[in-house]
Amino acid sequence: MRIGIMGGTFNPPHNGHVHAARQAAQALEFDRLLLIPDNLPPHKTLPKGSATGEQRLEMTRRMAKLIPGAEASDMELRRGGRSYSAETLRCLTADNPGSTLYFIMGTDMLLTLDKWREPEVICRLATLAVIARDEADRTAIAHKAAWLKDKWQARVEIVDCPALTISSTEVRADRQRCRDMVPAEIFAYIEQQKLYF
Ligand code: ATP
Ligand code: MG
Repeated sequence: MRIGIMGGTFNPPHNGHVHAARQAAQALEFDRLLLIPDNLPPHKTLPKGSATGEQRLEMTRRMAKLIPGAEASDMELRRGGRSYSAETLRCLTADNPGSTLYFIMGTDMLLTLDKWREPEVICRLATLAVIARDEADRTAIAHKAAWLKDKWQARVEIVDCPALTISSTEVRADRQRCRDMVPAEIFAYIEQQKLYF
């Protein structure tokens, strides 16, 4: 089995996430794609007025319905505390012997990977599937990939995904932008739960 893993805060999931997940699933032929909302992101603090973990999980479930083979996982929410990807990959490796794991991330994330907790474990347990928006991303990825390969035998695959420059931060800031950049099923939930605005 080829299993794709996309972690994130998903506060909320937006069209950039959906697009990147679809492109990766298609390019790397995943049998399954796990979308995993974090409990507490190690690298940023959740801003005031954020959706709860339960709400982010529900929005991630709605995102999963839009991508063939995708499912939302509550494993990081259930584990509690700060969500370290190395620990998540250890659990997934134990639960899926013989499978190949692909850890999907944006270029920004790859460039800081060596600062994460246990990057050597992440590199050992998963192939890194890095989303490139343009030629500049490709160059930056190739440079970092060579360094990570040398240091930790990292395996890196580049997934081309032309620019959809959306972020959750931006989507939370403006109701109209949110309506335009978030799938309708997720926007309906945001309205129903009176989130963000
Ligand atoms: P924030 O604005 O809080 O940084 P975000 O939009 O980056 O939120 P996250 O949930 O933190 O969303 O991101 C989860 C994963 O999705 C990360 O690997 C990130 O690099 C990637 N990602 C985020 N936005 C995009 C996008 N527009 N296109 C492709 N990948 C993206
Ligand atoms: Mg981000």
